[in-house]
Amino acid sequence: MDDWKGYRRISLEIVLTENQKEILVKHAQSNFPNESCALLFGTDDSKTCTVKDVFLVENVEKSPINFTISNEELLKGYKEAERKKLDVIGIFHSHPHSEAVPSLTDKEFMVGNPVVWVIFSNKHNDFKAYILESSMVQVSVKIV
Ligand SMILES: [Zn+2]
Repeated sequence: MDDWKGYRRISLEIVLTENQKEILVKHAQSNFPNESCALLFGTDDSKTCTVKDVFLVENVEKSPINFTISNEELLKGYKEAERKKLDVIGIFHSHPHSEAVPSLTDKEFMVGNPVVWVIFSNKHNDFKAYILESSMVQVSVKIV
């Protein structure tokens, strides 16, 4: 994750379909008790990020408190997004045992990956999104 060049833009809202949400929740549940992760492909008009596709990836750490996406899968994800003429607009991961709030480790990685971070809490069945600009900004999650 260290040198992933993200897509820098302030977004105030991220839009997901009910179906995409369901795919992410199932992914989070099937990886429980460990964290799960995914890349979110879509479009971004500076105020709204619209998710068009969800690219599920493996948490190679298999950890309940951290996640790491292999460089191979990241590369695969980027190629797939490009093929679909979409951008990687977000990173999804789950918090199996805690709130949908960025951990200290998340914050560190958010510095290098300035896309929208969507976090699902299995514990509270709750989706929240954030972007780190000069400070942490909460992004509203809209399900359509
Ligand atoms: Zn986290």
